[in-house]
Amino acid sequence: MLKNNIRITHFVLLMSLLNFLFFHLPFYTYVFNNVDYKSLNGIILVISLIILMLVLNAFVFFLIFSLSRYVGKFLLVLFFMINAIAVYFINTYSVIIDESMIGNTLNTNYEESSSFFSFKLVLYVILLGVIPSVYIIKAKIINVALKKILTISSLTLLFIVVLVFANASNWLWIDKNSKQLGGLAMPWSYTVNTSLFYIHKYKKNEKEILLPNAVIKDNQKSVVVLVIGESARSQNFSLYGYKKNTNPLLSKEQNLFHFNATSCATYTTAGVKCILEPTNSDDLYEILPNYLYRNNVEVIWRTTNWGEPPVHIEKYQGRDVLKQNCKGEGCNYDEVLLTGLKEQILASKKNKILIVLHTSTSHGPTYSKKYPPRFETFKPVCNSVELGKCSQTELLNAYDNTIVYTDYILYNVIEDLKQLKEYKSTMIFVSDHGESLGEKNLYMHGVPISFAPKEQYEIPFIVWVSDKSEELKPNKTLTQNHVFHSVLKFLNIESPVYKEEMNIFK
Ligand SMILES: [Zn+2]
Repeated sequence: MLKNNIRITHFVLLMSLLNFLFFHLPFYTYVFNNVDYKSLNGIILVISLIILMLVLNAFVFFLIFSLSRYVGKFLLVLFFMINAIAVYFINTYSVIIDESMIGNTLNTNYEESSSFFSFKLVLYVILLGVIPSVYIIKAKIINVALKKILTISSLTLLFIVVLVFANASNWLWIDKNSKQLGGLAMPWSYTVNTSLFYIHKYKKNEKEILLPNAVIKDNQKSVVVLVIGESARSQNFSLYGYKKNTNPLLSKEQNLFHFNATSCATYTTAGVKCILEPTNSDDLYEILPNYLYRNNVEVIWRTTNWGEPPVHIEKYQGRDVLKQNCKGEGCNYDEVLLTGLKEQILASKKNKILIVLHTSTSHGPTYSKKYPPRFETFKPVCNSVELGKCSQTELLNAYDNTIVYTDYILYNVIEDLKQLKEYKSTMIFVSDHGESLGEKNLYMHGVPISFAPKEQYEIPFIVWVSDKSEELKPNKTLTQNHVFHSVLKFLNIESPVYKEEMNIFK
């Protein structure tokens, strides 16, 4: 079969078969785990999915190659290479390639992506990508007559329609599982979802919807430090009852409160958006820093992370800017966010100040590289990027050390605020989403919220207040949207969008 001259019909069938064999083990593993394959209906579904996949892919390849040999070869080579990388990630991290995953990938910077690099990835690319590509490039494809093309096309379409209707009883199942199936079918998972991502991004670039003006109601000097956590899940904080002492400093702090909370999504861009918006919305409303800045509040955004909605303020400071005045080992880690923080607050001529610290402390997969060595409290730690290779203990140790480091950073924010005697101040820490650490064989985050495990959305919501008399309402479960209203309340800012029931302060 691997002779150099091959008829186009045979060629596309061979390509479809290779595509099926190389890249669809995760797809059919998912199918087998989610249908009753011992029932007749289940057997029909599995067989139909296999035939449909083979025929549909062959048909699409056939159409492309009928139009242009060069474009066809170029696309197929591209598909095999990207498929190999995609399947590596699916097998290694149990992810599915849906739209949010594409968003994460396209927003990942080089520094982050290089931490995924491994020998196993190279093997995947060579065996499943490069080798078939050599054959594709070398193959001499012989055309068939136009009449035959038309016959094949119409028969194929007819066959597909019949098969789809024969499976009418399975439509509901397919609809229910469409997100996972779509996320595991190559090369359509990333081609379709990348298109969707850009279509939605284009929509999102529409101007943000401005909120009605706000009014500052008094002259009391007040400052809010909002710390946005990255991939921090509440169950690993000893404040929330975790058996290892991951909060040695915060646990001794007075005036500190913690609440059960859930994130609105399981990925950064959506989680951060929810923290900054008055309500959870698909539209882009003016976010908290932009809103307060426009209404005469001093707003400072400091970040070692990415993925926030567009921030339109004067004092937006990334790692590079902060590093210039930072001294010591901590400057390479999230402590850099604290550089000259107190001085910057004191230098402000305004009475109302919002500071956002967007951290990246618990970002995977290389947890052990996110804190200075002296914070390696729990040992041994996982140092591999292939999380499944580490023992559960090593993985948890590495992750828990990032929480110990978070504890230290939050403690230092509080210590800074305590020294600002003439200010009323608060520190609010909320994570963008949680994290899976091997539970149910899942790692990291990004599983769509409707069927995500609780590890990926149960987040810490920790509040410290400078004033003992400041009381907090006895809330049961908070959402990320509580942040917006609580900050307005704390700074005593009146706004038509303010909702008292979403405010945590008494
Ligand atoms: Zn995140």
